[in-house]
Amino acid sequence: MLNILVIGNGQCGNRILDSINRYALGGGRSYGKLAKFYSRQKFKSHVETLAFNTAINDLKEMRFTKAKDRVHISHLHGVGANRNIGKQVFEEKKDIIMRRIEEPGNFDAAFILSSASGGTGSSFTPLLIKEMKKRYNYPVYCILVLPFREEGTLYLQNTAFSIRDIRESGADGIILADNQYLKNIGGNIQEAYNRINDMIAERILFLLEALDSEMMMVTDLGDFKTVMSGGAGLATMGFFRANKETPVKNAIQNSLSPTGLLFSTNVYEEASRAMVIIKGDRKYLNMDDISAEIIKLSEAVGQVFKGIVVSAGEYPQVLSVLTLESANEIEKLYDTALQAIQQEKAKKQKIEEEAKLDKVISRIKGLEPEY
Ligand code: GDP
Repeated sequence: MLNILVIGNGQCGNRILDSINRYALGGGRSYGKLAKFYSRQKFKSHVETLAFNTAINDLKEMRFTKAKDRVHISHLHGVGANRNIGKQVFEEKKDIIMRRIEEPGNFDAAFILSSASGGTGSSFTPLLIKEMKKRYNYPVYCILVLPFREEGTLYLQNTAFSIRDIRESGADGIILADNQYLKNIGGNIQEAYNRINDMIAERILFLLEALDSEMMMVTDLGDFKTVMSGGAGLATMGFFRANKETPVKNAIQNSLSPTGLLFSTNVYEEASRAMVIIKGDRKYLNMDDISAEIIKLSEAVGQVFKGIVVSAGEYPQVLSVLTLESANEIEKLYDTALQAIQQEKAKKQKIEEEAKLDKVISRIKGLEPEY
């Protein structure tokens, strides 16, 4: 049995963590009223969850994560979207944070959930990973949510710097989920968040369950580590749940297509290593079709690990994990972020010039015009 630690940092990280706990408590796709009264989680692995936030209201909003697993790192009313303040708060409260991580014991792997663009999550996450990598020898993966591009200059510049910081932190891989890419999911913003969070939660839980299953064709944590160590440190995940009419080969294709992926990429062009895990009843798993799809992918990508989990009575479900050697969408994001940084810089200069003007004007303070 695997020992897994899942941490949610900041509001976005907390909410995705809550979605994971809701699924694990049997909450399913809709928010079950009774879920918080369940005391036993349905994780196959031993999974510990922890939520960190400087904003207490975000922690209070969580409904499916035990109160003892929600850790308030007090700092006035949060850190705004200021990563410098966030980093300072982390350093001041590092001992409290690390003690909480240490408490449940040792793990086989950790996953850290966070937005790239806010204040708390995006500043805590790289520092936390750096600290964890210094102290423990298990892999630490980050699941990073990219902002809607129209959310403003501060969020864009935070994203550019936090991706850089996480890559430099020693993280064993960054799995990207992009709000912008997933936004056509429909509904208002809150509904879109919930749906996106559920998509991420579903994929993580499937991955954890699969890695801890008796597979007919085996992939394990070792293979996952190998996949994640490929490419440029960035990855994404795809998932597809077939119905009665969907043949398994279409389910595999869909998990690799825009309908299934969390981040905009053409996997046949940008991916560098992949893991594809297929779960379902034997009668729906046509091995020739599965092999043909895997061969097609490995011809384009290189190494593809294949796992098959037999589960009686279930239509096929397919999870794909892909590391990327290039990411056109990230290049575009950095172009926009660069403009945002320059815009913020120009604004700051203007304020400084205005301050100079204040000084000039203040020279007539207390004087009256003489005629
Ligand atoms: P923090 O609490 O200071 O770390 O800041 P947030 O986590 O709120 O970061 C803001 C970014 O996260 C924005 O780009 C939001 O669009 C995004 N965000 C906030 N809440 C959610 C959520 O529940 N789901 C998703 N997918 N994105 C979120």
